[in-house]
Amino acid sequence: MPYISAKTNLFQNYNQYFLALFFGAIGALVNLYPIELAYSIALILGNTAYILAASFLRPSLTLLCALISVIPLYFYWGHPYGFLTFGLEAWFISMLRARGWYVLTADLLYWLLIGMPLTTVLIWVNMEPTQTFMLFSVLKQAINAMLYTSLACILLFTFNDYFQSIKSNQPPLVKSLPKWLLYSFWSISSFFVICVSLGLSTSLGDFQKTQLEKELEINNNYISHIGNSYLNEHKQAIESIAFQLSSITEAAERQKALSKFHHLYPGFLTMLTASKQGDIELASPNSIMEKLAIKQLSVVDRPYFIHAMQEQKLFVSSVFLGRGFGNDPIVAISAPIYANNETQTPSGIVEGSLNLGKFGLYDKIGFDDKQIKTIVTDQNNRIIYASGSLGLEILSGLTYQNHASKSSPYLISLKLKGNEGAMFIHKKTQLMNNWKIHSLIEHEFSLKMTENMYLVMSLTLFITLLTASFFAKRFAIHLSRPLAFVMGELSKGKKTIAFRDIPYETPTEIQKLYQELKLNRLALIKNQKELQDQVLERTKELNQANRKLTEQANTDTLTKLYNRRYFEENFKVMQSIFSRNNSSVMYAIVDLDFFKKINDTHGHLFGDYCLVTVASMLKTFFNRDSDLVARFGGEEFVVVSQCDNVEILRSRMNKFLQKVADHQFQYEGKGPVSLTISVGIAVGKASYSDLGEDWFSLADECLYEAKGNGRNQIKITVIESALNISASV
Ligand code: GH3
Ligand code: MG
Ligand code: MG
Repeated sequence: MPYISAKTNLFQNYNQYFLALFFGAIGALVNLYPIELAYSIALILGNTAYILAASFLRPSLTLLCALISVIPLYFYWGHPYGFLTFGLEAWFISMLRARGWYVLTADLLYWLLIGMPLTTVLIWVNMEPTQTFMLFSVLKQAINAMLYTSLACILLFTFNDYFQSIKSNQPPLVKSLPKWLLYSFWSISSFFVICVSLGLSTSLGDFQKTQLEKELEINNNYISHIGNSYLNEHKQAIESIAFQLSSITEAAERQKALSKFHHLYPGFLTMLTASKQGDIELASPNSIMEKLAIKQLSVVDRPYFIHAMQEQKLFVSSVFLGRGFGNDPIVAISAPIYANNETQTPSGIVEGSLNLGKFGLYDKIGFDDKQIKTIVTDQNNRIIYASGSLGLEILSGLTYQNHASKSSPYLISLKLKGNEGAMFIHKKTQLMNNWKIHSLIEHEFSLKMTENMYLVMSLTLFITLLTASFFAKRFAIHLSRPLAFVMGELSKGKKTIAFRDIPYETPTEIQKLYQELKLNRLALIKNQKELQDQVLERTKELNQANRKLTEQANTDTLTKLYNRRYFEENFKVMQSIFSRNNSSVMYAIVDLDFFKKINDTHGHLFGDYCLVTVASMLKTFFNRDSDLVARFGGEEFVVVSQCDNVEILRSRMNKFLQKVADHQFQYEGKGPVSLTISVGIAVGKASYSDLGEDWFSLADECLYEAKGNGRNQIKITVIESALNISASV
């Protein structure tokens, strides 16, 4: 026997291991595809598998199942903490389930007591210091857990019949109606609340994101437009001054024109003209000529001089930092000047150093509430302009890392001072001269909104669970109150058939049940009554039969007198009663004379008839209540009765003797026949002896004497010691 049970156990274990691996594999498969809702928010649904497993498997196997399910998440997240939080979750739920908890309540407890604090610590210790989003990161885990747990519960409800066939290690859940309802309400409402909230917040988040992206684009367009027209305007300005200067020969006039022009276009930090040899001829503002003795300077090696002279067209230099006039980035715009309307070779160039720092003016406009930041880079990707709050160095190269994902296609990180990986939503546009405008919004701004949504979601979930609890209780009362009433009504006094109606609003099923139970109860009462009647009837019959049996046991079948057995028993009773009353008793033996001869002569049946007739005569003659007449055996009868006077007894006995002798016995054509009897009688105080044999032997002696004396006579013995009468008569 032990061998067989060990074998079955082994098989069961094997089954359970298989189940753990099976659930684990399904969980892992689903976890390969997390549903990405927003930046760093992905729904993990594969964990449903180990919650299901917790309903059937013991903690160690549920843990195994969870560890398998979590493997893809390790690669997805790039950290192993899922093994810890989810493994503990699986183990904890299975433990509580074994103690009769529902998995949903067990999971709720896990996340409140262990899951959320543990996640907080893990984030605190291991992640970058993004404490602002700590609450969010913890809440999203818990909400995700509530989602897959309630999904598991719904699956357990829905496919209960299929799951029933699984050999479970967990005890069956025995719960009251309110608890059962509460659990159902919680599972269903939390699943739908989370689904709807996630759906809404995702689409709201998407909407908000497109909105932000649009604003970035508007900013780009705006800055591009401004940038393009700023450059174009100043390019046109240089062409126009070049044209003007070409027609002026007088040096003072030229200086005047240049200064006037510079006044019109304050965007130029400085303006100058140079001769065809590259010597500076004029400059604006005029003061710098004097201050710096610019006149001695040659620009012959400058790209703006070389390009304008050689290519004879407008030239825009690369961006460089201004020297002597602050550190603003500058482009030099130059154009050739032709003396005396000569068109073949330029007589020099005019150049304006355009201050690009002025972009900052436009950056301040409009979008401050969302804190849109702007970066402008030149064709070599060097920063020409960057919003001050970014703290980027002018003319340093702009490098950023792309973090684009399906849910956040415009996400980048920038290396900023004091924040190595600041995240931004980023859009760029190219200007006509290959410069780029980058508009940025801090990602934190959009995360903050998502975080708020998750807070609202948690609050909604909490309120929903409270509401569900309230309604579960109400529903349970609605159902259990009529049931309690029905049970009370049916368990009342067994015989009542007056059942009250249910005084509450009641579902029809319960009404129907009550009706059925009432009918059953009535049928039961009817059956009980029938059964009682039957038992009564049977008892009566049985008593009658018993009586008959006793009668038969006490009666002689032929003569219907009492038989010897009854006589002997009752003699004792009579003797003791008479003895107590100090009464006297006569004990007589009546014997038919020559009866053998009658039998021999007329047949046995005639003999029987004679016996019956004598018996009947005896019974009629000795008919007092206290008289005891019985057939002692064969043709002998005994009579015992109270006797106070021997003479009266004698005459009475003789009377009977005569009566028998006078009787003509006739039966079925036989007879008439006469027969006689002899009687031996013992008379004395009842106290003489309580033994029947003593009395019998005295009477028998008398009978013997009567027979010997010629029969048809009586012989009486009076027991002297007891009675004051003569001994022999
Ligand atoms: P005695 O006067 O000395 O009493 O002579 P007796 O013939 O009456 O006595 P005995 O004892 O010799 O015979 C008794 C007879 O009674 C014998 C038997 O056939 C008869 N007898 C006993 N019981 C029954 C019975 O139940 N029915 C019939 N028909 N005869 C019986
Ligand atoms: Mg006899
Ligand atoms: Mg006889």
